[in-house]
Amino acid sequence: MPRKRPDRRRVKIHRNYTVDEAARTLGIAKGTVRRWLKNGLPTIDHRKPVLIRGLGLAEFLKSKARPKQSCPPGHCYCVKCRSVQRPDGAMADYIIITATSGNLRGLCPTCGSWMHRRTSYAQLQAVRIQLDVTIVERLPRLRDSRKPSTKDHLQEA
Ligand SMILES: [Zn+2]
Repeated sequence: MPRKRPDRRRVKIHRNYTVDEAARTLGIAKGTVRRWLKNGLPTIDHRKPVLIRGLGLAEFLKSKARPKQSCPPGHCYCVKCRSVQRPDGAMADYIIITATSGNLRGLCPTCGSWMHRRTSYAQLQAVRIQLDVTIVERLPRLRDSRKPSTKDHLQEA
């Protein structure tokens, strides 16, 4: 299990924090906050001691909280397994959504559920080196909440 992350919801975005206050608010070491300052945590200019805007701190924590797990071409994220997987049998479907984008769909080799990954047509070329991809035209009757009316559909052409 990864180390518990500081809870950014404790940060009040409309107040300013000294290094000490930021550390206490988040329950972390002052040294950690100083390291963040070196790594780009913004401060209010020309103030000694350093003052950190709550909003800047919250946004910094948010950017750190993004999952580090990268998803290389030819891989999908399985929501059920919570991990990046290569589709079973190195096979996937590419479901065309527009001329330039679509959804890559493959089976998770671990749990057998469908994994989807939004993939642009340009990215597809890199994917095809890794996987045997079948291009699938989207069926017009497929339920799609993003296209509420038939009018929109006609305008697509
Ligand atoms: Zn899975």
